[in-house]
Amino acid sequence: MRVDPEKCKGCGFCAEVCPLEVISLSDKIASIATGCVDCQACVKVCPAGAIVPDKAFPEGTIQCDACPVGCRIPPGKTGACRRFLNKDGQRVRTTRLHTYGDVASLLKPLWAEPIQAPLITGIGAGTTYPDYRPAPFIVKGEVDGVDVVTAVTEAPLSYSGVKVKIDTDETVGEEGADVLHGRHKVGHVTTEEYGSKMLSLGGANLLTGKDGFVVARIVSDIANRREVELTIRDGASLRLKVGNPPVIDGRVIERMRVGCGSASMGLFAPHFRDAADEVVVIDSHVTGVFTEHTAGRYLGVPFSGVQLTFKKSTPGRYFGDHGKGWGGTSIEDPVSLIREIDPKFGRVGMTILFTETTGKRAKMVRWKGDLTFEEIPVTEKARDAVEQIRQTSQTSRVSAVYTGGCGGSARVSIVLYPVRLTEAIHKRRAKLTVGGATPFIFPGGGITFMVDVEEVKTGAFTWVPTPATVAPLEFTMTLDNYLEMGGYKESLMDVEDLMKWLESVGTEKQK
Ligand code: SF4
Ligand code: SF4
Repeated sequence: MRVDPEKCKGCGFCAEVCPLEVISLSDKIASIATGCVDCQACVKVCPAGAIVPDKAFPEGTIQCDACPVGCRIPPGKTGACRRFLNKDGQRVRTTRLHTYGDVASLLKPLWAEPIQAPLITGIGAGTTYPDYRPAPFIVKGEVDGVDVVTAVTEAPLSYSGVKVKIDTDETVGEEGADVLHGRHKVGHVTTEEYGSKMLSLGGANLLTGKDGFVVARIVSDIANRREVELTIRDGASLRLKVGNPPVIDGRVIERMRVGCGSASMGLFAPHFRDAADEVVVIDSHVTGVFTEHTAGRYLGVPFSGVQLTFKKSTPGRYFGDHGKGWGGTSIEDPVSLIREIDPKFGRVGMTILFTETTGKRAKMVRWKGDLTFEEIPVTEKARDAVEQIRQTSQTSRVSAVYTGGCGGSARVSIVLYPVRLTEAIHKRRAKLTVGGATPFIFPGGGITFMVDVEEVKTGAFTWVPTPATVAPLEFTMTLDNYLEMGGYKESLMDVEDLMKWLESVGTEKQK
């Protein structure tokens, strides 16, 4: 690329985004040094159209095909991501392949075998209050010849909530929008994940706010896999039950998207080649145009000249938008997505297949010139391609993780020196479990954990109108470590005795 000095306004946007930092400004005019790889980042941000192609690449330049950017890497230079180097005409990775041993020192040790599982769970344990009293059950037993202690409590946690994952390409609402139960705010829409919309419900601020009781009930209902009804402000209504398909605006969502429209190009390229002269897979993240996409070009499929109204990212990949139309975009009629067909490439009479990343809908048209199209029946080969997408996409479901923080007072019912317990948990000398399930512990201070609610017995989560949600927690460690942390020696009971007592009153199995 090179800068046209007549057009450059000296805003500096290009220098800010250049991934290789080869653009600089002098006297308020940008210039591009050697090492430019034609990644086009600067072209996309220049408000003046001042950056123009420069075909003169040094001899020995290679083109990288490891991603859609397609960098042209001069000899001795790297591509835009700095991962690949042009070394004597060969594309080589700048970091060598790592073995497990190369990274092992960064990993936390595993928990020792004897403390892998708690001796009992906290489900049904009850709570001691105030916290300086020992936890309701502190049991001691022998595992693999080692004396092990498990202390359990049902801890009321003001810092608690659920993150709910809804597998769907449907738009539910803006990121950051309020999530309501009736008139009560219980959370917000958080960042979208691959093929799924995410809600963050609960949290200390909402639990202690005016809607706190409703928040606590909704969080524990979701954690216990009960059905809840929610609405998103200026968005969809939702009926959610962990483990079941989501119901959005009264419709059961059956399939989640297989990937974005660009991923679909790679996944189904041979099917698309036979399906039509052009295949457009509409998706709110990235919409794909097959013959312009690397996947189509790789198969030698001639470019159809189709260009979309969406903003182009890289060839054949267009950023989508959000709405209630095809592929979770605003597009109600796929044909309206075509901005132009370049007659240098397009052929009057060619066929275009439109579909979505779930394969739910398909529409086929024949080009009649300019921007006119005739709808035609979807051919058998096109139907096969769409069916491939449908069969590859997974069943939609709702999932949730419960998040809690027990870095506070609950720890002093376990040991006298709570910070020793926190440190031991992080160093894996003690193990926290939630109703027997192993959570993920956030690094850093405190004990903030996340657990898949489907690993915890239904009904194990409760709430108290302080308000807070209540989670069954178990802390397991060796007896030596327990005593070193200031464990309550006088409260230790033999696990064998407890088991005998439990058998005498009957047990309930996990469900
Ligand atoms: S973004 Fe465009 S106008 Fe701004 S400094 Fe770079 S070339 Fe000049
Ligand atoms: S993988 Fe890196 S070097 Fe290769 S085209 Fe993409 S950005 Fe450029």
